Amino acid sequence: MINKKIESAINGQIQAELYSSYLYLAMSAYCQSLNFKGFAHWLKMQAEEEVEHALKFYNFLLDRGGTVELLAIQKPPVSFVTPAKAFSQAYGHEQKVTGLINKLYELARQEKDYAFEQLLHWFIDEQVEEEAQTQEISEILAKLGGKGNGIWMLDHRLGKRKGE
Ligand code: FE
Ligand code: CA
Repeated sequence: MINKKIESAINGQIQAELYSSYLYLAMSAYCQSLNFKGFAHWLKMQAEEEVEHALKFYNFLLDRGGTVELLAIQKPPVSFVTPAKAFSQAYGHEQKVTGLINKLYELARQEKDYAFEQLLHWFIDEQVEEEAQTQEISEILAKLGGKGNGIWMLDHRLGKRKGE
């Protein structure tokens, strides 16, 4: 059995991961509407990955005899002003998610839930990747300043993202 504090924290994290998916899907639709199909592809894959993150917590909670309670997901924005602003928002969002994962880790230690701590090791590593990727893309876009061919070259590169 899982303790109630951890159960409710995991339900909150499932909601946060599904919101991330919603946010990246909204960013993907926005980029696609501007014909940046590579950015759109990358963000759509990221949205799918966020559903997988939610399911890791969901499966863990069920395996531990907890109750999954799916919470309401907030509406993401429709427009992101520019692709550069979308990716800088994505980077900021991932930094926030890292903070959430760190809080869960503190809770796991405080409650001496070693299995939960183990699950979170995977997420701690994953957040290093998530921040690095979104930071790199947002820094390149900021340098390009929305001018010239560079943005289309980056769009082409991100269009090559494959499933991990
Ligand atoms: Fe995630
Ligand atoms: Ca990832």
